[in-house]
Amino acid sequence: MANPSLLILPGDGIGPEVMAEVRKVIDWFGSQGTPFDVSEDLVGGAAYDAHGTPLTDATMAKAQEVDAVLLGAVGGPKYDDLDFSVKPERGLLRLRKEMDLFANLRPAQCFDALADFSSLKKDVVAGLDIMIVRELTSGVYFGEPRGIVTENNERVGINTQRYTESEIERVARSAFELARKRGNKLCSMEKANVMESGILWREVVQRVGDEEYPDVELSHMYADAGAMQLTRWPKQFDVIVTDNLFGDLLSDLAAMLTGSLGMLPSASLGLPMANGRPKAMYEPVHGSAPDIAGQGKANPIACILSFAMALRYSFDMGEAADRVEAAVEKVLADGLRTADLLGEEGRAPVSTSDMGDAIVAAL
Ligand code: ATP
Ligand code: MG
Repeated sequence: MANPSLLILPGDGIGPEVMAEVRKVIDWFGSQGTPFDVSEDLVGGAAYDAHGTPLTDATMAKAQEVDAVLLGAVGGPKYDDLDFSVKPERGLLRLRKEMDLFANLRPAQCFDALADFSSLKKDVVAGLDIMIVRELTSGVYFGEPRGIVTENNERVGINTQRYTESEIERVARSAFELARKRGNKLCSMEKANVMESGILWREVVQRVGDEEYPDVELSHMYADAGAMQLTRWPKQFDVIVTDNLFGDLLSDLAAMLTGSLGMLPSASLGLPMANGRPKAMYEPVHGSAPDIAGQGKANPIACILSFAMALRYSFDMGEAADRVEAAVEKVLADGLRTADLLGEEGRAPVSTSDMGDAIVAAL
């Protein structure tokens, strides 16, 4: 069988710095008899500087062919004045759109060594490991009609919440598949009490569950109650699936239960390809962090954990993913901290590269 293939797009700012540490982890797997076919290309400002566009057609074509794309970050002050059509962020948007990545996965995972870092009580977050699946390509952010119009001599802002059955079905399937790879438990969140799209959402998710995933334990919750439960006792959940708007709010809330932006990975998945693997792009939640770029201060863990998600969700290498996460847990338990993980403490931070080396040593 062919090696799993990865396209690496380091991008701008701290993107290349954190991606260099991921390369060390990938190389370690290669040295252990698990090689990946890795190719690397430009995206964002870096691609604009070289080619005058934030994503070339050739790079786009490559992204469509590989098993998974791993992206660093795009953008930076250098590109602020560019025309909208060639802004670095447009490269990322084109990837998402043309790969049709409709399911956005945001884990909230708490490493024991960082449990004190949360604003919540330690026993609420210690050991937390949940996943929010947010529908990313439809709903109120895209529904028509939209706009600002004038009615009865005043202006009216209009957006439309709209979901088709097939849009709900496909994101529900992604969430059920994930639940099967995790704790076999899925909670769907909407507002079926006040929204027609919520009524349809609940009905379709229930039907997909009954027909295709009877082995997965399915529950439903109103999204406002879900927000409350997420802060009260988040460990009651495993996988949560919700729409674009509620997912935007709930995934930020859930992610920050556990600490720094420098720790948070994400994945965006599309439909299964011919080999059965979903179209997939993995990236840290953080951006290009121009304020610390080029200084060896960036925390590479979010990007390394994004690679771990690729191992688990694109390559069915759950044990390898566990191993990467355990290595991260180990270096944190040993007291290693990049600057973003040190509050007011007087401890000296480690560099991006030292953190990557320590994680490889722990592997
Ligand atoms: P974007 O618009 O691309 O989301 P942003 O300005 O909203 O970018 P980031 O670039 O993620 O956000 O940076 C927000 C803050 O978090 C900055 O102060 C940055 O230095 C810090 N930060 C982000 N990522 C990391 C990281 N991996 N390690 C350390 N600090 C980080
Ligand atoms: Mg931002």
